[in-house]
Amino acid sequence: MSDSAQNSEDVLSPNVPLEPIISSEELAKLRKTNISLENRNYELRETVRQLRLQTAAAESERDQFRREARKYKTELSQMKTPPLVIGSVETLLDGRRVVVRSTTGPQFLSHVAENVDLADVLPGAQCALHPQSFVLLEVLPKKYDASVSAMEVEEAPDVTYSDIGGLSTQKNLLREAIELPLLKPQLFEKTGIEPPKGVLLYGPPGTGKTLLAKAAAHETHASFIRVVASELVQKYIGEGARLVRELFSLAREKAPAIVFIDEIDAIGASRSADAYSAGDHEVSRTLMQLLAELDGFNARGNVKIIAATNRIDVLDKALLRPGRFDRIIEFPLPTGEERRTILSIHTRKMHLAKDVDLDLLSRETDGFNGAELMAVTVEAGMQAIRHNRSTVRAKDFAEALSAVRRGREQPEARELPPGMYL
Ligand code: ATP
Repeated sequence: MSDSAQNSEDVLSPNVPLEPIISSEELAKLRKTNISLENRNYELRETVRQLRLQTAAAESERDQFRREARKYKTELSQMKTPPLVIGSVETLLDGRRVVVRSTTGPQFLSHVAENVDLADVLPGAQCALHPQSFVLLEVLPKKYDASVSAMEVEEAPDVTYSDIGGLSTQKNLLREAIELPLLKPQLFEKTGIEPPKGVLLYGPPGTGKTLLAKAAAHETHASFIRVVASELVQKYIGEGARLVRELFSLAREKAPAIVFIDEIDAIGASRSADAYSAGDHEVSRTLMQLLAELDGFNARGNVKIIAATNRIDVLDKALLRPGRFDRIIEFPLPTGEERRTILSIHTRKMHLAKDVDLDLLSRETDGFNGAELMAVTVEAGMQAIRHNRSTVRAKDFAEALSAVRRGREQPEARELPPGMYL
């Protein structure tokens, strides 16, 4: 047996006691050190985690400040840039050249900026122009802002024929001219005739012209677009014509639609040749646009035009030509029987005392229009409220009648809004 083999046998032999490498005190010390190092390690890791969280929070705060800085920079640059001029496109020429008209009046030959799509540059479109070079920088979206363009849009109004007293001939004529073409266009196709394009309602104020037009819209489930013609007469050249274009394009968008032009005489009055001012030019321009829209209109389409006036005598003959407002319907003051019906319509929701005699009331209201008859019923109701009653008596009507009469006779009372009497 060799020496080395002898030695290894000595070491592995269980009978030889092992010499401890480190003493137990040293071992305990080492264990303690190990525990404290582990604790320290844990603490450091926790610190790292906290720092990472803080960094993330600081970074997100920095991003927020950057965003805010960007916003303020944009705001600042917006404040520094001069405002753009608003105008409208007149004609698009070759090579991105365009004739524009600023809303202050003059026309300019200018250019369309490179970033503007030429397909949007249509005659009549509203656009923003550079204040010095008048370069067309942007085509503005079509605006149908009712408050700006003086239009009042009502989707299928809730007025029905049963809310209208009398006017049976007028109802039938309007049915024929407006309802039939909208509801049964095939009838006209079969017969081979063109339905009327526009209908003109004329008569004294408050005789139910607007009411009947609304009822026609209700029956045909059409949108009712009302515009007062005097609102179409604008301060700036070309603005009135633009509003007319907008009115008709809004109607086409909302079709089926009934366009109701109230007080048409404001733009449709015939002009005397001697007093032809710049203002008259603007009014006639607006009228021309209206005539152009009427002429370019498909009579079998689902947009119908109704105009109303109290002054048919002053209307320009051009408006009444066939193919334009070719149906003319008169709205006279209501007769005794019609006044009775109007009164009963306006009192149908009221609690009337037994002594109220509507026949007598209709006799006493000779010469009253529908609006005044409604005012009598409202005023009688107010009298009852003043006396703490919900039932309206004959004496309330008597007082209401004299209040409305006073309103008709006293010029100063006429200045009050309709329906209010001293
Ligand atoms: P203007 O010419 O002043 O515009 P108008 O003829 O269009 O007047 P409307 O606005 O239709 O008159 O009528 C005003 C109000 O009078 C109506 O809201 C309605 O309450 C009442 N009225 C008028 N006529 C009638 C009627 N025939 N039946 C029931 N109510 C009526």
